[in-house]
Amino acid sequence: MKIIRSIKKMQSLSRQLVADGLTIGLVPTMGFLHDGHLSLIKTTLKKSNVVITTIFVNPTQFAEGEDLSKYPRDEKGDIRKIKDAGGTIVFVPKPEDIYPDGYETYVNVESLTQTLEGKSRPLHFRGVTTIVAKLFNITRPDVVVFGMKDFQQAMVLKKMTTDLNYPIKYLIAPTVREKDGLAMSSRNKYFDASQRIEALCLSHALKKAKQMVKENIKDCKLIKKEMKTVIKATCKTAKIDYIAFTDFETLAPTKIIKKNTICSLAVRLHNVRLIDNAKLM
Ligand code: AMP
Repeated sequence: MKIIRSIKKMQSLSRQLVADGLTIGLVPTMGFLHDGHLSLIKTTLKKSNVVITTIFVNPTQFAEGEDLSKYPRDEKGDIRKIKDAGGTIVFVPKPEDIYPDGYETYVNVESLTQTLEGKSRPLHFRGVTTIVAKLFNITRPDVVVFGMKDFQQAMVLKKMTTDLNYPIKYLIAPTVREKDGLAMSSRNKYFDASQRIEALCLSHALKKAKQMVKENIKDCKLIKKEMKTVIKATCKTAKIDYIAFTDFETLAPTKIIKKNTICSLAVRLHNVRLIDNAKLM
């Protein structure tokens, strides 16, 4: 497995791979890898000859006061996990090479970024689309895979890929969860054992929503009320940022659950902000 840190070297290697007729898969990550990330690598391996996994904690997607400086990192462990998962190339660029002094170009998807996460984190998606566009340009992928766990991000990046005419097959992989239902996230590492149990409030609330829909309750207001109760019962101190019911593709809000409705939520507990989502029909 190759580990590449220089942008120039990565560009010339991907140019060579393309010239050799090989297809390239790309899995962008911020590192501190868990089985969710590794599932993306495995999916990509089935669709391309080589897989480039990138590790880059992207500063432009963090606002001031967010967890950029304390974001968990474990480069050695990540490289070992990528190798074990069958990854072929790891690209670990340096922040000062990605954003040199005087950097001033950003990519922005205009309307899909105005809601949900975009409301709570105004410049977040501009940072995400900018880094992913740069990674597309550097690595020239044929296939890219993002996780459903960050479903709005997956939709925003899909729109960017289409709008900017990247000739890339775009895949979204299901959320990988712990046995008890907690969506895997690098940020789960911030919790101690009892906080970790309280973090189940998100998946418990989604489970409640699914159960209500199964019982033919389709009123989002009613479902939201019950979800709030479940969250508070699992974690007294949880602060709900949002619970939203929207169309999966357009992110348009809905009052009644229908086909393609996704419920997404963001909850802050013990100073950690977690997100999760589930399709309800
Ligand atoms: P991150 O390192 O958090 O930026 O995530 C990198 C990629 O992994 C993104 O496409 C995420 O949506 C995806 N991802 C993160 N957590 C999970 C999970 N639990 N299951 C599946 N994919 C995930």
